[in-house]
Amino acid sequence: MSDSFNALVARKDHSYSCDYETLTLDDLDAGDVTVSVDYSTLNFKDGLAITGAAPIAQRHPLVLGIDYSGTVIDSQHADFSAGDRVVMNGYGASEYLHGGYAQRARVSGDLLVKLPDSISNAQAMAIGTAGYTAMLSVMALQSNGPAPGDGPILVTGAAGGVGSVAISLLAGLGYEVVASTGRMSEAEFLDSLGAADIVDRAVLSERGKPLQKEQWAGVVDCVGSHTLANAIAQTRYDGVVTACGLAQGADLPATVMPFILRSVRLQGVDSVQAPMARRLIAWNRLAKELDMDKLEALSFDLPFSEVLSRAPDILAGKVRGRAVVDLAR
Ligand code: NDP
Repeated sequence: MSDSFNALVARKDHSYSCDYETLTLDDLDAGDVTVSVDYSTLNFKDGLAITGAAPIAQRHPLVLGIDYSGTVIDSQHADFSAGDRVVMNGYGASEYLHGGYAQRARVSGDLLVKLPDSISNAQAMAIGTAGYTAMLSVMALQSNGPAPGDGPILVTGAAGGVGSVAISLLAGLGYEVVASTGRMSEAEFLDSLGAADIVDRAVLSERGKPLQKEQWAGVVDCVGSHTLANAIAQTRYDGVVTACGLAQGADLPATVMPFILRSVRLQGVDSVQAPMARRLIAWNRLAKELDMDKLEALSFDLPFSEVLSRAPDILAGKVRGRAVVDLAR
């Protein structure tokens, strides 16, 4: 490749726009590691950033793409050398740092994770920020939370990126997983990931009573709003609910009753600023615990050239599983 490369860039002049552009290394951020980017993904947050549906990009022009995997081509950082395979999630990528929708990236090595040998660069993005967030959610759930055998775990937004990987991980650990989805047509897919039962998300998405029949030993919620409020209201005594997403809404129309009468614990999950030590645990656990055959079943290739046109689909809930964006196509 010459000095120039393709990138998907957000601009805000009179109005917000996003399009493919040709950049050079001089256009990149300062940093001590330069990466040849192989793969990125299309996450819900990318959909928001590309379409401008939410103000994700905090500076302009900005290369979008909240995550990437690739190979180090130049490093002044003590922990990295040329040829190392790395993954970058969050840390402001696509917000105030250039992101993964470019064939080159330059960044501080302090923000990079060296990939475990057993995870290829393509698999790293089949996992992506969604899969890594799913593992952070599982870790949060397990921290003084229910053990396998303690009762069912509800996963909301089940057919999406975070939900589908969470189901696979929890089922692999021996939990009984109940998947909540609006896409009952995906029942077979969710079943193949290890869901023991499937509920229509409509039963959770309307305003419900503050305390409902106790059902869940734990919840991994990707959806927020009434769904999260109902899930909390249905959680058993001492149960743990993790909240990472807002696909239904950022509101939480709940009461304190499940917390003060049932000792239910609500644990937030953030992937963007998660400390490096937690990231390393998450990626090393993914290497050991995620069934890579299932991962293949829940991911599909998406040429970089199609990211712009597919962005509205992920906001409309029309993307199943994980899109692996191939920067070479
Ligand atoms: P996806 O778009 O892949 O999945 C979201 C899923 O939520 C959809 O597939 C759908 O599941 C469900 N959903 C969508 N709209 C609604 C609705 N109106 N009501 C109820 N359910 C709905 O996104 P991701 O899995 O990548 O991300 C999930 C959430 O987590 C997003 O809100 C994202 O912003 C957030 N996130 C947060 C992170 C963090 O660091 N905290 C990191 C990564 C993601 P189904 O079709 O099965 O009903």
